[in-house]
Amino acid sequence: MTGEDAAEHALEVPVLIGRKRDGGELTADELRALIGAYLADEVDDAQIAALLMAGVIQGFTDDEAIALTDVLLASGDTVDLSALRGPTVDKHSTGGVGDTTTLVVGPMLAAAGAQVAKLSGRGLGHTGGTLDKLEAIPGFRVDLEPEDLRAQVDEVGLAVAAATADLVPADKRLYALRDVTATVASPALIASSVMSKKLAGGADHVLLDVKVGDGAFLARPEDALGLARLCVRIGEARGRRTGALVTDMSQPLSDAIGNALEVGAAIEVLAGRRGGRLRELSIELTAAALELTGRSTEQASADALRVLEDGSALESFRAFVAAQGGDPDVADDPWNLLPSAPVVREWRPGAGIVRVTGCRRLGELAGRLGAGRQRAGDELDLAVGLEVLVRTGDRIDDDEVAVRIHARREDDAAAVLEELPSVITVGEEPVDGPPLIHGRVGLS
Ligand code: URA
Repeated sequence: MTGEDAAEHALEVPVLIGRKRDGGELTADELRALIGAYLADEVDDAQIAALLMAGVIQGFTDDEAIALTDVLLASGDTVDLSALRGPTVDKHSTGGVGDTTTLVVGPMLAAAGAQVAKLSGRGLGHTGGTLDKLEAIPGFRVDLEPEDLRAQVDEVGLAVAAATADLVPADKRLYALRDVTATVASPALIASSVMSKKLAGGADHVLLDVKVGDGAFLARPEDALGLARLCVRIGEARGRRTGALVTDMSQPLSDAIGNALEVGAAIEVLAGRRGGRLRELSIELTAAALELTGRSTEQASADALRVLEDGSALESFRAFVAAQGGDPDVADDPWNLLPSAPVVREWRPGAGIVRVTGCRRLGELAGRLGAGRQRAGDELDLAVGLEVLVRTGDRIDDDEVAVRIHARREDDAAAVLEELPSVITVGEEPVDGPPLIHGRVGLS
């Protein structure tokens, strides 16, 4: 009997789980039947959890990952961007700490002539979410109807909205199960989860920023590169021009961790007042996305730099904020218009060479101040967070501030101050900072 026949007949769930446990492969039809039955409540959480764990341990094949992507995609609505003149672009990060690139890259791409329709999520655990950050801007709305999203992209080149419950609902259910069964960190499961949402989002060009390091889902560069290759393979197999950068998340990307602080940091970069890794990576990501749309590598790099330097990316940000009901003056005066925390404390660790050893923990500490949620639905304090002003390999002086804590209460700040020496150490031994970019896939 072929896999297709088996799936059409009685679904022998324990047999399929056993095959995966023993290192076998499931067919597209079997995966479709299994996930379909799960969504119809005909298969238990326990059975799908066992299958996921078997797959995490044995590994899923690329064909299984592609089939799973198709199954997830087919479970809900898709966004139709075909009426836009294009080129339509989506950019997605697999998640990190101080990872504010969407707020910089979105306006840069719009200013460079691309059309960006981005469906985003909220932060969970130690990672932040773009929607939460944008809600720190007074008046900003993230709930857009598909029609309004399209009209806004047509007019200002950029819209960022909450993904509706009908977009890839199977991923929402599977992700919740993965979250509580230690089955998130599988390249095939992450790739199918991410790519099903990117395919549903409708853009013709998809750029992925696959994070690697202690602050990311995957800690080893070779695993992140494998994930990037798989995502690109899935995107290309489904007709989207797809590329990926594998980038460092062993230390926070931006100086800021926390919602209002990250919006402020993004505006500082757009306004040309701040350099550092957030600016550097935003230029690389923008250039890579423009390259996917057909520009030469040289042209794409020149365009990315130009829109930052001539102020047009900041203008795009202003227009985007206004279109979504936010106060556009935030582009000129972020620190007066964004919410600020009442308690600000500074940590000076003393002279020496810095080593950031706990990127994930820094995200968790910002979360503990109130910037992140422990459970879906928790309310956030948009004003609080951390400014991490040093990076691995920096030599600092005796009185230099390494971290600024923005807290609601003295007690909260004191608890973070106590923990900082275990996540950022200062010694005498020279240490090289990690590379910002570990690899490129689908790009020159
Ligand atoms: N982001 C996603 O959307 N899905 C995953 O599985 C991991 C990161």
